[in-house]
Amino acid sequence: MRVHACGLLTVLLSFQVTRPASAQEVDPHIQAALAAVSPERLAATIETLTSFGTRHLMSSQEDGARGIGAAAQWIHDEFTRASPRLQVGFDDYQIPAQGERVTREVRVRNVMAVLPGRSARRLYVSGHYDSLARAPAPAATGGFDWTAGDNPAPGANDDGSGTALVMEAARVLAQSGLEFDATLVFIAFAGEEQGLIGAHLHAQRALADKTRIDAVFNSDIIGNVEGGNGVVDAESLRVFSEGPEDSPSRQVARYIQRQGQLYLPSHRVRLIARHDRFGRGGDHTAFNQRGYAGVRFSEANEHYGRQHVVQDTPDGVDAAYLARNTRINVAAVAALALAPAAPAVTTPRGAPTLDRQPSGYDARLRWVAVDGAVAYRVVWREAWTPDWQVERRVGTVTELVLPDVLIDDHVFGVAAIGPRGHESLVSAYVNPPRAPVEITVK
Ligand SMILES: [Zn+2]
Repeated sequence: MRVHACGLLTVLLSFQVTRPASAQEVDPHIQAALAAVSPERLAATIETLTSFGTRHLMSSQEDGARGIGAAAQWIHDEFTRASPRLQVGFDDYQIPAQGERVTREVRVRNVMAVLPGRSARRLYVSGHYDSLARAPAPAATGGFDWTAGDNPAPGANDDGSGTALVMEAARVLAQSGLEFDATLVFIAFAGEEQGLIGAHLHAQRALADKTRIDAVFNSDIIGNVEGGNGVVDAESLRVFSEGPEDSPSRQVARYIQRQGQLYLPSHRVRLIARHDRFGRGGDHTAFNQRGYAGVRFSEANEHYGRQHVVQDTPDGVDAAYLARNTRINVAAVAALALAPAAPAVTTPRGAPTLDRQPSGYDARLRWVAVDGAVAYRVVWREAWTPDWQVERRVGTVTELVLPDVLIDDHVFGVAAIGPRGHESLVSAYVNPPRAPVEITVK
């Protein structure tokens, strides 16, 4: 018998709107990596980063104790000391003077540690290690000088906190003994404060080399718990992701929240449906602009008065809070790196493999089998809702029919599950955009 559509289906859906119990199980190896995240080490890393006086792009690259050059070398050496499994190097560029903030030719040096996986597809954990503190200047220049490379710029929270997170994530994952499917890239970018320069240089080269990057996690301003307005929140963090609602970046954001609920349920991942804070950007933006999925992690409440000033000192970072934010990063990127790749849900020409067959009112989902997948998780939701409402786990099939679920009213997706239960990102069946039709006028 055919279920009579709208009424009963609406009832069924409304019963299932709460999040389904997660079929995922906690992986004790990932839990061990989370336990290894050390607040003391994070705090010590930030102390050392601030001890270079400034990490401004235009500061000294030769001085062994002060400036961005010394900081880059120290980060490089810390990566090297963390584990022989990490392939550590500089990602170097020479750029001419440009824009308002790059006042002379300068070397831009990102610091990179690669943990090779079975597959070449990459997952990035990033932050920026450069710093900036504005100096007073004549009103004609806007009242502040952003180019004074030698001024003190401790950058403890912006973005010493994100840099420490990246270094700690590299250490615990490289030392975990886990063998990952994806290749993990831990990277500290330079020149963020001059316009995401290091990230743009890296992303444009990756695109030219056709490097596959499945996700970029960018942590920037991630360790302070007290906003400038006095609001204190040490129990949540924000994850910003660009739209539209089923973009690859949104799938990364949903994935992070799901892993957060599994591994650290007391720490709330708040998803913000926006590519970054209002009117602002970060290094993930350089990747988003080139079609890569990427999200920004930031603390719950910023203290704007302690950004880009000499007061951005280590006492403004809460190491226990930064450790929790680091664990969210580590849990999500480890689970994702252990999982198989996400299934393709389009034809080679990009059309979604979703139709109304066999009845004309059903949802038939098809996907391409993924190497290493032992099962798939199919998810769907009403189209005017932010997160998946219903899920169904299936075996090694590549097609599922949901009778009488209208594809017009719902969004569907599918994730691949590996032999030890790790899940890929969800590939969503996206309604293709339509180009405007030009009508000829006589
Ligand atoms: Zn920053």
